Amino acid sequence: MKGKILLTADRTLMSDYHRNEFVGFGTCSPPNFVPEWFYRLLFFPKIKTKNGIPVAAPYGLRKIEAQLLKEGFDVLTVDPDYLDEYIDDAKVLGIHVMDPFGLGPASSTFAAILKKEPYLAKYFRLLLEKPEIKKAKRRGLKIIIGGPGVWQFKYRPEFVKEHGIDCIIDGEAEKVVGKIFRMALNGDELPQYYEVSVKEAPSLEEIPNIVAPSINGLIEIGRGCCRGCKFCSVTLRPLRWYPYEKILQEIEVNMPYTRGICLHAEDVMLYGSKNVIPNDEKLIKLHELVVEKCDGMGWSHCSLAAVAAKPKLLSKISEIIRQKQQWWGAEIGIETGSPELVKKAMPAKVLPFKPEEWPEVVRTAMGLMHDNMLVPACTLIVGLPEETEDDVIKTIELMDDLKEVRSLIVPLFFVPMGRLKDKDWFKREQMSELHRELLIKCLRHDLYWVRDLIRISFQGKIYNIALRFLYDLFVRVIEYKARSPKVLGKPVITAEK
Ligand code: SF4
Repeated sequence: MKGKILLTADRTLMSDYHRNEFVGFGTCSPPNFVPEWFYRLLFFPKIKTKNGIPVAAPYGLRKIEAQLLKEGFDVLTVDPDYLDEYIDDAKVLGIHVMDPFGLGPASSTFAAILKKEPYLAKYFRLLLEKPEIKKAKRRGLKIIIGGPGVWQFKYRPEFVKEHGIDCIIDGEAEKVVGKIFRMALNGDELPQYYEVSVKEAPSLEEIPNIVAPSINGLIEIGRGCCRGCKFCSVTLRPLRWYPYEKILQEIEVNMPYTRGICLHAEDVMLYGSKNVIPNDEKLIKLHELVVEKCDGMGWSHCSLAAVAAKPKLLSKISEIIRQKQQWWGAEIGIETGSPELVKKAMPAKVLPFKPEEWPEVVRTAMGLMHDNMLVPACTLIVGLPEETEDDVIKTIELMDDLKEVRSLIVPLFFVPMGRLKDKDWFKREQMSELHRELLIKCLRHDLYWVRDLIRISFQGKIYNIALRFLYDLFVRVIEYKARSPKVLGKPVITAEK
């Protein structure tokens, strides 16, 4: 059945990254020394499709699809390479975005260093430039965009105009998409930029379950965050945790596609908690239920403070998860090693501890994760407003303490978001010697640990062994390139251990 509303996302989002979310980070890089076709194969291969319909799609897109279906719309989610087969019947095209112009922290840092447009921005642009979309636009197709990366359109008004984007929805859209898509179908004038107010944020009961699989089995277990970091935009949304039944129902929807899932929340450790102390009972029960149903799981994010607050709880959770797998991963924000900067920018991130204790909290939590086989992909922010030389030195010292921790640690240039959205971007030209030293330390750390991660990630089947060989080869090429002083001003050489 062909739909009047089509939903899609660009190629870098419509991929399952060889069933490994870590691999998806590769989409943040600009074109580099690896030929594009090979890079695409390594980091964002096409997802399987049936008649142009992807077997799985980004979770956010699935939520919108579910909401529109619930309201009786004729909707179809289509792979971007098959739009031409369906678009003639469509009146509205909904596009999901994460980082459409590569202005997010990871991609803008890569872009600043390598001085090129990141892949995820390139493929978003290529999607909008497709002849079938241009043709459909001429006969009146409406384009509506949503997703976590929509804030970037405020920096690209010419792009919006040039590509005929009719409406951009910013925020949790379940309660407003019906109204906006209906207006589009009726030919009514659409608001160019619709900011969903806190009042319009859906309650738990108003959030529909997805009706078709999400990429890599990613499912939300809750929304919102109570920590209020100044540089973050998640922070103003109310905190809501999904009940077990809702989570299990979405796992069930994913079963025909995958028996491995990724639990998504801003801090999975705080599932079911009303404050910053993990709720042992709820977290353990959730993991027992999920392990019983699935063959494997990962976490999207968790916080160091919650891990350090309940060391025994992490061991218990690790025991449950590792009944069926060797390790699991999560994204984690270290951001800085400086207590002073913690006080200024993220005082609640350290709770229930004090800002002065932050470096110790990081060391303790990272050590616990290492021992329990939780592998963190960590971020550091370079150039936070008010950052001093002493702050950078403290972060460098912290990096020294983390050498033995199995992890990836990625330094990201400051991007003005959240309550710091009016501040200036941090630019490559502002990098000091100390910043350079920090970047080099991170790269050495990552080159050392990435081999281990490739080894534990790709085991077993011949397909995995072949991938492992290719990723190893890729790392060797990076190591070779890192000997050159061209990129960071001095050679990174190779791993220092
Ligand atoms: S803890 Fe993470 S999600 Fe929460 S406000 Fe801070 S950066 Fe944002």
